[in-house]
Amino acid sequence: MSKTIAIIGAGQMGSGIAQTFAQHGNSVLLADVSLDIAEKSVSGIDKSLGKLVGKGKLEVADAEGAVKRITPVGDYDRMGEADFIIEAATEKEEIKQAIFEKVGSMLAADAVMASNTSSIPITRMANYSPDPARFIGLHFFNPVPVMGLIEVIPGLATSEATTEKTTALAESLGKEVVLSQDEPGFVVNRILLPMINEAVFVLGQSTAEMEDIDKGCRLGLNHPMGPLQLADFVGLDTCLDILMVLYKTTRDSKYRPAPLLVKYVEAGWLGRKTGRGFYDYSGETPEPTR
Ligand code: NAD
Repeated sequence: MSKTIAIIGAGQMGSGIAQTFAQHGNSVLLADVSLDIAEKSVSGIDKSLGKLVGKGKLEVADAEGAVKRITPVGDYDRMGEADFIIEAATEKEEIKQAIFEKVGSMLAADAVMASNTSSIPITRMANYSPDPARFIGLHFFNPVPVMGLIEVIPGLATSEATTEKTTALAESLGKEVVLSQDEPGFVVNRILLPMINEAVFVLGQSTAEMEDIDKGCRLGLNHPMGPLQLADFVGLDTCLDILMVLYKTTRDSKYRPAPLLVKYVEAGWLGRKTGRGFYDYSGETPEPTR
């Protein structure tokens, strides 16, 4: 049965999550820090659905229907209509805390509040929401319309009913679910981020050229893309934020961010979303920046 899904944060992930829910017949309320950003995100979704139509992968009517089901909003006034509120804002705990506290006052009596965080503990963030039993981690992968996995992460106080409802919601999108305990990085990022970080150390120590590091992992490990290119897809700021959460929560030095990753973030070279990260995306084919 179709649901109303509110999404807070209309960046790379929020847009993909909105598109996916809308394509599966759900109504979506999409919010960001301003109505303008939410509206731009809906235009982006419209374009990406248009591309699918152009490739013959989607009917025009289905694309139009999906876009119509997404309403950009500039405030939280309508959040009480949502069956699920999914937070997909910047990976900073203070930002997420402010969202949960503010939007929490609007949460409907039987609605679930979920976070798409990549690394921040769910049990701790549940305390920022009005009802920790109805708070859960729902971790999508990028690009959301394409990737087949969602991690579901119950916190210590999450009820079984919430976990079941959330798992059913994830499966209604045609995705596979992996259930993870609330440990730093959950399952996939706990494994992925140290690999990306190590690739940046390898690059920083000039062990190999950027393209060879990626080629090595593509051909040597049979990964569809190399770790530096993947970092650009994730967003280098998000990679750094996740590593910092892993580092601070575990106090394990193996998660210390590579200095070169910090440098790229400080330069504002954040990956595909800014047009430049480890690779420069301004031309027809991505070019290494070092
Ligand atoms: P992004 O930088 O593309 O988007 C973040 C969005 O949050 C921006 O549009 C920003 O304006 C918005 N925002 C910031 N403060 C806000 C607030 N107070 N209220 C509403 N919106 C606010 O980042 P992203 O890649 O979409 O990541 C978002 C979340 O998803 C993060 O928690 C990240 O860890 C997680 N995540 C990212 C990936 C990935 O591959 N990028 C994968 C899974 C999960």
